[in-house]
Amino acid sequence: MQHDRPNSPAARDVAYHFHPYTDARAHEEQGPLIITKGAGCTVTDDSGKQYIEGMAGLWCTALGYGQERLIQAAERQLRELAYYHSFAHKVPPSVIELSETLLGIAPGKMGKVAYANSGSEANDTAVKFVWYYNNALGRREKKKIISRKRGYHGITIASGSLTGIPKNHLDFDLPIEGVRHTGCPHYHAEAHAGESEEAFSQRLADELDQLIQDEGPETVAAMIAEPVMGAGGVVIPPAGYWKKVQAVLKKHDVLLIADEVICGFGRTGQMFGCQTFGIEPDMVTCAKALSSAYVPISAIMMRDEIYQAIADNTHKIGTFAHGFTYSGHPVAAAVALETLKIYEEMDIAARARDLSPHLQDGLRAYADHPLVGEVRGVGLIAGVELLADKATRTPFDPVGKVGGYLDARCRDHGVILRNMGDTLAFCPPLVIEPKQIDEIVAAFGRALEETW
Ligand code: PLP
Repeated sequence: MQHDRPNSPAARDVAYHFHPYTDARAHEEQGPLIITKGAGCTVTDDSGKQYIEGMAGLWCTALGYGQERLIQAAERQLRELAYYHSFAHKVPPSVIELSETLLGIAPGKMGKVAYANSGSEANDTAVKFVWYYNNALGRREKKKIISRKRGYHGITIASGSLTGIPKNHLDFDLPIEGVRHTGCPHYHAEAHAGESEEAFSQRLADELDQLIQDEGPETVAAMIAEPVMGAGGVVIPPAGYWKKVQAVLKKHDVLLIADEVICGFGRTGQMFGCQTFGIEPDMVTCAKALSSAYVPISAIMMRDEIYQAIADNTHKIGTFAHGFTYSGHPVAAAVALETLKIYEEMDIAARARDLSPHLQDGLRAYADHPLVGEVRGVGLIAGVELLADKATRTPFDPVGKVGGYLDARCRDHGVILRNMGDTLAFCPPLVIEPKQIDEIVAAFGRALEETW
C-alpha cells in the first residue's frame, strides 16, 4: 500500500491528519486518495489518474476547475485589499457589490444579507437571527426550530442539531434542546401503499400541523428545510408538498428558512430551489456554488420586516453582537461576485434545465436493474437508491455497503460520485458537457453490472 512507504505524502497524511467524515481506523488501513489537480470538470490524483467530478466536489464546484476569471478576481482583490472586516460600520467595496447583486437575484422578498464562511455557519446564524427577532418582538417563548428527518444543515452545534441524520447526532450529544424533527418527504420510501403524492404531502403537512400544536405555536419560531434534500439522499418533494407545508407554517406564524446551500444558483433548473418548487421563504441561506467553492463564503438573507425588528433591537442594545472575523471577506466577496456574473452571462439555470434530461434519462435507463430501488432527480442533481429487495423495499445489510462498493467501482472507472447510505448521488459541475454526462452514466452502468 502506498501509505506504507515511509515519508510518502500518503504515509504523512495517515500519520498527521484527522479527516472529516471518515472512518479513522479504515483510513489508517487504506490511506488517502490524493487529488492534486483540477481542470474543467475533471480532477487528477497523485498517480496521474484522471476522474470526472460527478459530485462537483461536495455539491459545490459549479463552474468546474481552473476558471480563469475567478482566479483573476481573487488575485486582483488580494492585491488591492487582502482583508478587511465589516464590524462596526466598516466594509470593503466588493462586499457592497455582492450584497446588491445577491439580493437582486434572491428568491422571495429578501431585504438584507449577512455573511459567514460555510453552510453550517450560515444556518447557525439564521437560527440566531430568528431567536433575536423573536426576542426583539417580545416573544421570548417562540424559539423552537423544526427541521426534517434526513435533512442536512451542517455540523456545528446548532446546524448539526437541525440535521436529521442519526449519525450526525450519535456520540456528539446532539440535538440541542429546542430542535424538533418532522417527517421526510421521501415518497418512495415513506408513502403508504396506494397513497397518491398529494395525499402523502397532505399527511406530512398534517403531521407538521400536529407537531406545532402539540409543542404550542407560541413556542415554535421557524422551520428550516432544503428545497431538495441533498445529503439525506437526494429527496425530491412530492406533488403539493411545499404548498401544503407553507400553509401550515403561515397558519401558526412560523418562519420558513430555505436552506439553499446545495440548491442555490441553478442546480434545480431555476436560480434557486425556492423558485423551482414555489417556496416563499422568510430567510434564505446559501454557500457552496455562491463562489463555485473557489473560496469559502456563505450568506444569510432575510425579509425586510425581519431586518426592521432586528435593527430596532440592535439600536437599543447598541450593537448586533454576532459576526465572524471573516464575515464578508473581501476576496471571497470578489470571487462570489464574479461567479454570479458568470452565472448570469451563461444563464446557468437554463443550462441546468437543458442538460437535465441528459442526466436524468441516462440514469433512469437503469431503473429496472435488480439493485436499483429508485432513480430520482431534478435539474442537475440526481440520486440512485439501491435496495436488496425492491418489492419489499428492503435495504442492504449493513446499509451503505453496496453503495460504497459501487462508488469505489465508479472511481476505478474514472468517475467520482458519493454514496449516502446506499443512495449514490450525482451532482456534476453545471458546466459539464453532455459527453461527460454520458461518461458518468456509462461508468455507473458498468459498476452496476460488476456489482450484480
Ligand atoms: N446545508 C446543506 C443543504 C448542505 O448540503 C450542507 C453541506 O453539504 C450544509 C448546509 C453545510 O455546509 P458546510 O459543510 O459548508 O458547513
